Amino acid sequence: MNLPGSSFTAARRKIYPRAVHGRYRNLRNGISLALQAILFGVPWLQWGGRQAILADLPGRKLYLFGLVLHPQDTYFLHLLLILAAVTLFCVSALAGRMWCGYACPQTILSQAFIMVERWWEGDRAARIRLDKAGWTIAKLTRKLGKWVCWSAMGGYLGVTAAGYFFPIRQLTVTPSIVLTVIFFAVWSLFEFGYFREQFCSYVCPYARFQGAMLDDESLVVAYDQSRGEPRGKLKSSGRGSCIDCTACVQACPMGIDIRTGLQLECIACAACVDACDEVMDRVGQERGLIRYTTYTGQDPNPFRPRVAIYLGLITVLGSLLVYLLVNRSPLALDAVRVVSPGGQLAVTTPDGHISNVFKVHLINRLASPQTVNLQAEGLPGADLLGVTNPIQLEPGQVMEAQVMMLLPPGQHHGIRPFSFRVGNTRKEATFVVP
Ligand code: SF4
Ligand code: SF4
Repeated sequence: MNLPGSSFTAARRKIYPRAVHGRYRNLRNGISLALQAILFGVPWLQWGGRQAILADLPGRKLYLFGLVLHPQDTYFLHLLLILAAVTLFCVSALAGRMWCGYACPQTILSQAFIMVERWWEGDRAARIRLDKAGWTIAKLTRKLGKWVCWSAMGGYLGVTAAGYFFPIRQLTVTPSIVLTVIFFAVWSLFEFGYFREQFCSYVCPYARFQGAMLDDESLVVAYDQSRGEPRGKLKSSGRGSCIDCTACVQACPMGIDIRTGLQLECIACAACVDACDEVMDRVGQERGLIRYTTYTGQDPNPFRPRVAIYLGLITVLGSLLVYLLVNRSPLALDAVRVVSPGGQLAVTTPDGHISNVFKVHLINRLASPQTVNLQAEGLPGADLLGVTNPIQLEPGQVMEAQVMMLLPPGQHHGIRPFSFRVGNTRKEATFVVP
């Protein structure tokens, strides 16, 4: 029940993560730099004289290095997404939420924005003081400086995001490009400057179902209760290893206290591990009061049925994807009958010829030009009109042509199968003799 004067929802408690140093932070920084280099560098990559990866929405094409995918090829993307999901499940079973803590763009870019925040406003204590203080020129300068840098970062992120949809080397000021850049820039300012950990806690579906992905032998970050409790200040007697300094809580970007147990919000980033290790070093105790471990406390065992099933699925899906890519036809051919305005499937000309009209779609699936001939087979005496062979197809080009199949007079009534052919690609069709 909602009590008078209370609210159903708690107000957001702003989190001021403290800077930490240590091996996991170094590892996170290294991975973050490598992934950001990929994210920001990929749109600039060239392949065969054009952008290597480009989702050309108006042209309804997706360029992936030497591949040109059309809407007819979405099964490749479905397969790729299923493969990525199973791989994530496998990584989760083995390493818990390490994807979230080390590789998720949400975490990486939020950390980059927090780093800039630290440059301008200082570490945790200074930021808390600054936010509590009244407005002065110094505070205004710091806040403005931060927002100017964030805006520049958001702007560049917007340009990069637009570069996945429009050729980045030819970006010009058109309404669609400007809108795309502004959308991603504003979204990144909101997401990484303000919303941050709330996305992981309230929006991301992976955080919700990850419990089903983990088992007793998955890697998690945990506090060693048996060693740490009873916690107490450094000089108190009879205490465990935890000196209740709260360094782990202050370092946590999710604002949680890992000492109260594993929590849904924990992204396994190990900032608390680094923070506690630093403290343990200072007080001369063994590291690892907070550490990567498993629910059972044993070393992780990669040889488990769950992992074997995931690896089997990855192998099957990966092999299927490679097989389909290798055996993919360089051309896609489709033909649909055009019914006359009077609803007729076939028309008899005044001199007795019989015509059927088809709309033919031809797609060059290669990243290089092709010269092809469109032919009709299986109908002796038929003429194919409306197309001039050879046909020159540019990389990824979709050609649409209305063609007419014409049979001489004197045909028997019925339906005759035949096929359109381009190279080794065929499309079966039928000719109607009225
Ligand atoms: S509890 Fe530790 S590992 Fe989990 S999110 Fe917080 S700092 Fe990262
Ligand atoms: S950093 Fe370590 S010692 Fe300090 S409160 Fe956390 S668990 Fe206890």
